[in-house]
Amino acid sequence: MVDLQEPLVRPKKKKDLVDYLVKFRWIVVIFVVLPISVLIYFNIYLGDMWSALKSEKRRQKQHDESVQKVVKRLKQRNPKKDGLVCTARKPWIAVGMRNVDYKRARHFEVDLSAFRNILEVDKERMVAKVEPLVNMGQITRYTCSMNLALAVVAELDDLTVGGLINGYGIEGSSHLYGLFSDTVVAMEVVLADGRVGTLGFLVSAEIKLIPIKEYMRLTYTPVKGTLKEMAQAYADSFAPRDGEEEGQQDQQCRVVVQALVLPACSDSTQEGFLFGWLMPPKVSLLKATQGESIRNYYHDNHVIQDMLVPLYKVGDALEFVHKEMEVYPLWLCPHRLYKLPVKTMVYPEPGFEHHHRQGDTSYAQMFTDVGVYYAPAAVLRGEVFDGAQAVHRLEQWLIENHSYQPQYAVSELNEKDFWRMFDASHYEHCRQKYGAVGTFMSVYYKSKKGRKTEKEVQEAEAAILEPAYADEA
Ligand SMILES: Cc1cc2nc3c(=O)[nH]c(=O)nc-3n(C[C@H](O)[C@H](O)[C@H](O)COP(=O)(O)OP(=O)(O)OC[C@H]3O[C@@H](n4cnc5c(N)ncnc54)[C@H](O)[C@@H]3O)c2cc1C
Repeated sequence: MVDLQEPLVRPKKKKDLVDYLVKFRWIVVIFVVLPISVLIYFNIYLGDMWSALKSEKRRQKQHDESVQKVVKRLKQRNPKKDGLVCTARKPWIAVGMRNVDYKRARHFEVDLSAFRNILEVDKERMVAKVEPLVNMGQITRYTCSMNLALAVVAELDDLTVGGLINGYGIEGSSHLYGLFSDTVVAMEVVLADGRVGTLGFLVSAEIKLIPIKEYMRLTYTPVKGTLKEMAQAYADSFAPRDGEEEGQQDQQCRVVVQALVLPACSDSTQEGFLFGWLMPPKVSLLKATQGESIRNYYHDNHVIQDMLVPLYKVGDALEFVHKEMEVYPLWLCPHRLYKLPVKTMVYPEPGFEHHHRQGDTSYAQMFTDVGVYYAPAAVLRGEVFDGAQAVHRLEQWLIENHSYQPQYAVSELNEKDFWRMFDASHYEHCRQKYGAVGTFMSVYYKSKKGRKTEKEVQEAEAAILEPAYADEA
């Protein structure tokens, strides 16, 4: 068991220029990033209003025209001359922390920037049909006035439907509805060759809606104890141990967000009064004003990682994070992982349903996202901390414990370990079936840390194609 009182002392680290740039970064954030963020948010708000004023018919017509432009653009590509296909979205605009290095190599851009309209809200079918750049702020403002919300609303306004479906999305209601992608009812996708199919550019999605009320009751239950005891109390708060009926579990609307907090080190009342109304800063602007050295500093000295672990392993995960990183507060968010007829890249533990563990049902295993986002205690104490090594060990722990690392974060996984963590079989089958190989980059290369050469990626694509051609022969 981990002793929380005993600090894990490491040697002291020498300070350099970047330490001071980071220390005084608040000046840029408060006086430049925050005011500009407010202007951008206001501009986006006007754009959303303008879109909402158009009739559904007009939005659908514009959508059809935009899809035709994507199809035309894909057909213009010469596979021998042009690079692999990517969206034209600039890496700093996306919320994720990856460097998106693949966009620095030669690539063939397809502009999806027109896809930012809510196409339809069908109250009878309880679905919203939206384009991929519709973000959480926009859709929430639109549906709330109808007493409706997406079943899983990711917290940050800037997160887009396309990114949450193709990347990863989770929130406090995920213990009922699963990940954001589990709430998708239908997708419209343009394939590599310009046909509409299932693996390619997402151009619209129908997403499940749920009814909402104006207020909700929140219960705050402080818990003291060891990390294992806190993990158990967390599990008890939404999934009773005595094997509640599946139907009853579904009716529970409790949202569980727990934090293990260190003593606060500043009084935020004044800052809140002065600047709180400007919050939050746009993540894209924070990224754009960072520069390479500060970005690398954060990679080395901060942790921004999520661990998707089976519920019964949360205690072990907390102890692991304490020993390796000592990052607090931690975010715990339960989510279901559904048993599907096919083995997708992320899947529950085989045979989990026979163990009848807390939170599990016959059709889904209960997982938890352990969110680790902050400076480790060693960094705060001015000691040496190797962020890359710590993340590498975290990934190994995840692989050994049937757990996953969302790939919006910076990953240290090599190719072999990537495919030990994620199942490749169905993914590769679909990539070949729908002609994605040789046009869209494999997800491992998209996620891989550091620059990759076009040759390296093309060779990897060719290696995947070879056995496929051999099969045909
Ligand atoms: C500060 C911060 C806060 C966060 N908060 C939350 C949170 O509250 N809840 C949560 O669930 N997650 C959160 N995340 C993680 C976030 O959900 C992921 O980073 C998400 O994938 C990013 O969404 P995005 O809209 O920026 O998409 P992008 O990063 O642009 O896209 C993600 C992936 O989807 C692909 N993609 C996007 N659109 C399309 C399309 N139309 N067709 C095909 N592929 C496409 C992209 O190529 C990329 O690989 C947070 C991350 C950070 C850094």
